[in-house]
Amino acid sequence: MCLMRLPDGELRLKIEKLASSLQFPLNKLFVVDGSTRSSHSNAYMYGFCKNKRIVLYDTLIQQCKDEEEIVAVIAHELGHWKLNHTMFTFVAVQILSFSQFGGYTLVRNSKDLFQSFGFDTQPVLIGLFLFQHTVMPLQRVVSFALNLVSRAFEFQEENLSAMNTDPWYSAYHYSHPPLVERLAAIDEPDKKTD
Ligand SMILES: [Zn+2]
Repeated sequence: MCLMRLPDGELRLKIEKLASSLQFPLNKLFVVDGSTRSSHSNAYMYGFCKNKRIVLYDTLIQQCKDEEEIVAVIAHELGHWKLNHTMFTFVAVQILSFSQFGGYTLVRNSKDLFQSFGFDTQPVLIGLFLFQHTVMPLQRVVSFALNLVSRAFEFQEENLSAMNTDPWYSAYHYSHPPLVERLAAIDEPDKKTD
């Protein structure tokens, strides 16, 4: 996998223009060989504060029919940044990790819980099992909720994905709404104005 500077040209100019119109502190712009990774082409950004980089997969450049399309994909990703989705997800994951530790401590120290499962002592391994079984169902609910949030975020922009799935199946399993739902959401405002 090799990372190289996106060559000067129309595409670079357009991306830089987009970044500055959003006040995105674009510091470096790279292309990476994505063919080794998968056919799922995209772009990502990384970097702290005023030192951000955007990396495009060359497969994205190959698959898009023109520069506008590439810029649209990047605009989508920058939208996540502009609307603080990245920060939200980061903070949410930290909070979740800490509440897991807290939850484990609660389970670990609960004499009653151990006793209700027939243990007079509180072995660490059993504590882990109990934690797993009490937390698993909660975990499902939390990941479902996170999926809903992630999907709501996606609808604040547009993005690429595939297939027409049952809306409930999709809401539970996919963090990103499938294409059909996205198209419906794009049409939604039109219906309201009709
Ligand atoms: Zn997205």
